[in-house]
Parts: sequence; structure tokens; C-alpha cells
Amino acid sequence: MDKILSHIRERQSEIKLLIRQFVECESPSDDREAVNRFVELVADMVSPLARVRTHPGGKFGRHLVCEFHLPGKRKSGQILALGHSDTVWPNGTLRSMPFREADGRLWGPGVLDMKSGVAFFIFAMKTLRDLEVPVASKVVMQLNADEEVGSESSRPLTEKNAAGSKAVLVLEPGTGLTGKLKTARKGVGSYTVRVRGRASHAGVDFEAGASAILELARQIDRIAGFTNLKRGLTVNPGVVSGGTRSNVVAAEASADVDIRVTRLKDAPALDRKFRALRPIDRRCAIEVAGGLNRPPMERSAGVVKMLRIAQSLGREMGLQVEESSTGGGSDGNFTAALGVPTLDGLGGVGEGAHAANESILTDRIADRTALLTKLVSAL
Ligand SMILES: [Zn+2]
Repeated sequence: MDKILSHIRERQSEIKLLIRQFVECESPSDDREAVNRFVELVADMVSPLARVRTHPGGKFGRHLVCEFHLPGKRKSGQILALGHSDTVWPNGTLRSMPFREADGRLWGPGVLDMKSGVAFFIFAMKTLRDLEVPVASKVVMQLNADEEVGSESSRPLTEKNAAGSKAVLVLEPGTGLTGKLKTARKGVGSYTVRVRGRASHAGVDFEAGASAILELARQIDRIAGFTNLKRGLTVNPGVVSGGTRSNVVAAEASADVDIRVTRLKDAPALDRKFRALRPIDRRCAIEVAGGLNRPPMERSAGVVKMLRIAQSLGREMGLQVEESSTGGGSDGNFTAALGVPTLDGLGGVGEGAHAANESILTDRIADRTALLTKLVSAL
């Protein structure tokens, strides 16, 4: 059997223990102290293997950056492994969803998204040291504290560390129960469309009113028409509100709209369409705010090259490494948009991210850890 894989298989119980410790240290995005406790736990674990620094995350927890001490001479640039320490699960979730091992899986809040990915990467770095595998690259792991809430505070740090890197490995879960890697992610944005009309009494003075609701309803039909499925561009008016009472012609109405684009170059044209919205009833006014938050991770030649390397490393272990694309965003969107080849979905294999059945497959722990180990030495 493959030397790296068998070394890791023999130590699988250590990786499981690491995952357990991570899952049992709850870290919801909106609880800075809890996230910082998790960051400290990780920092303590990696400090014998790495130089550890943290960066303030404002109202969020601290962002962690670890530079690993690895065998061999550094001569070919930097690899950035990207993850996040926060989860979507509130404190106390462990009471109803305790960490457990059953049915060939590990279960618990954040086990898939993405505490197992963090554990895999740390163990991969340990393996490189144990087996004295030479690594030509400087290897940095960055864990952001605010990924689940938009990465506003970590984005500059992510972009700075990515800009100095030749490759980015994202430790998010793979796709589906085969753990396909992610080679493309849609860009994500949002708009708020606000209509101001003119209020009046619906019975006494109907014609004096200009209904913001009626105007918004007409605009929503236009906005929904911006969707272009062939180009992988979707526009979803997901929330609407407006009006005060049924007997008042509504003075205000607004819609929150989610947008997804496959290609970055589609975003400016879509933005122009939003900005060009004009009222059908001229007595109404339209105000548009928003834009693209995460640029798309496009399947560039550099991404495909990394995928091919991962596939050939997978074959060494008798493993078929497949790829997938997704409409969801990650911090890999930011790094890919800078033109840095980014391979995503290298973390746990399982299902139920953000859901009560969140779990990872136990029998995929070793090969995922081995793939990360091999990628870091091969890139
Ligand atoms: Zn995640």
C-alpha cells in the first residue's frame, strides 16, 4: 500500500480524536469569545509544528495564521491552506447534537463544515514531518473567524496571503458522498430595490395614491427576467416587504435580491441592468443598493492543472478524484479572483453541512488527509 496512506491509516484514531476536540469546542460566528477559544485550541496544537500568529477580527474572533516548520529547503513559493474556525451552530448545540461515532460516521456540529478539514490539514503537516518528506514550498494555513457570515473582516488578510502564494488549498467539504473537489464556484451578491410611492386613503382618495407595492411587483417581474440559466446567472428576489395597512395605498416597498454569476465579466452588465431600473408609474421612485460580494471562482487553466495533479496523486492510492461546481461561495472565491490557482473541497467527505445530519464518513478520513499531504509536497 501507499506509504503515506498506510502511515496515516495507522494513526486514524489520533485524527478522530483531534476532530472530536475541535467539534466539542463550539465556535458560532457571532460569539467572539467562543471562536477565540477554538482558535486557541488549534494554536496550542500546532505550536510545536508551526509559527503561529493571530490577527484581530473586529467584532468577530481572531484570524489564525500558521506557518509550518517542514522538512526540506524552501525554494518554490508559498502554498496557502484556507479554512475557517466559525460554524453556523449556536452555543449549546452539542446538547442536542453531541459528537458521536456511529454507522461509519462521525457526527456533530461543524464536523463537516469544516472542523474535519482543519484536522486533516494539521495531521497532513505532521505526517510530512514524521516521514521526513521534503517540501519545497513555504506552507501557511489561515483560519478565518467570519466565513459563515460573509468574511468581511478576514477578506483583506486572505487576499494578502493569497497574493503571495502560487496555490491555494481550500479545506471546505467535498461535494456529495464521494467528496468531489470543487473547481468552480459561482460569485455571490445581493441587491436591495426600494420603491417610494405616494400614500393615500384607498377609499376616499384612491387616485391620489401611487402604490409602491404595485410598482415593486412590476419591477420584480423585470428583475427576475435578468436570470440567464445558460450563462449560469441567477437572480432571486427572496424577500419582499411593503405597505402599512390594506386600506392605505402603499408609500414604501422593497425587495432583497440574491444574485449568482458563473463568470466575473457578467457582473458589471447585471449591475447596469439593476441601476437602469426606471419606474413604470412615474410618480414612484426607485433606489437600488448592493452588488457582488464574492467574485466567482472560475475554472481557469491553473485550477485544472492543480486538479490533474490531485487526480494523479489520487491514483497512487487507488482513488478516483472527481471535480464539481457549486452555486455556493467560499473564501476560495476571493483567492481565485486574484488569479491564484485554487482547489476547493479538500476537507471532509460527508453530508448535512448546516443541517442536523451533519456528518463525515470515517473511511474517508485517511485518504483525504493523505491527499493533502501529497499535494503539499507535490505542488
Ligand atoms: Zn465552510
